[in-house]
Amino acid sequence: MQYLFTPPPVVSVPIIGQSEQFPVHRIYCVGRNYEEHAKEMGFTGREPPFFFLKPADALVFAPSNETVSMPYPSLTKNFHHEIELVVAIGKGGKNITAANAMQHIFGYAVGLDMTRRDLQNDMKKQGRPWCIGKAFDHSAPMGPITPVAQAGDVANAEIFLQVNGQDRQRSHVHKLIWNISETIEHVSTAWELQAGDLIFTGTPEGVAAVVPGDTLLGSVAGLGQITVRVG
Ligand code: MN
Repeated sequence: MQYLFTPPPVVSVPIIGQSEQFPVHRIYCVGRNYEEHAKEMGFTGREPPFFFLKPADALVFAPSNETVSMPYPSLTKNFHHEIELVVAIGKGGKNITAANAMQHIFGYAVGLDMTRRDLQNDMKKQGRPWCIGKAFDHSAPMGPITPVAQAGDVANAEIFLQVNGQDRQRSHVHKLIWNISETIEHVSTAWELQAGDLIFTGTPEGVAAVVPGDTLLGSVAGLGQITVRVG
């Protein structure tokens, strides 16, 4: 096959304890999936889960023991962090039941659903798509993937984010409104999941703005931590 120009490289993420990279297919994200975060965004009650996507090449790999830089994006004056547990799908499927969902997970990682909150809010008000607020370049920093067997009890893990050493977000994965299995069930009714898909499962309360020069440190217990400097 000859291409008109060189195709972009496959986006991939290292795997803890393995030499192979995890090739990324799609990045799904769950909206408002922790009750206290839903409240801070002005919503209450258990609504059906909803989803948006980021392009795979929005991913910025953040190795566990290094600080990576993430450019401050254009157009925004309110650039927010959202620390999230990321689920890496190893086996695809349609209409996966929650009872079978765990068989489809390869591993887990720590991720940031970076958000241009002012643009997202404008789009919400106008009933327009969130893409400009959520799916911009460099909007998905994430760490290496820990295979399920080494990840420990992720469903009950603590999740936190600090900015310049100060706590901003601190919660537990068990507070997810739609847990990991239920989320996979819902996503797979709307799209056929494929090996290589990533699911950002939602963020707990405490989202706030960062500015150039800030350093974000995020972690999910058992999955290491990521450190990202806003450039
Ligand atoms: Mn999010």
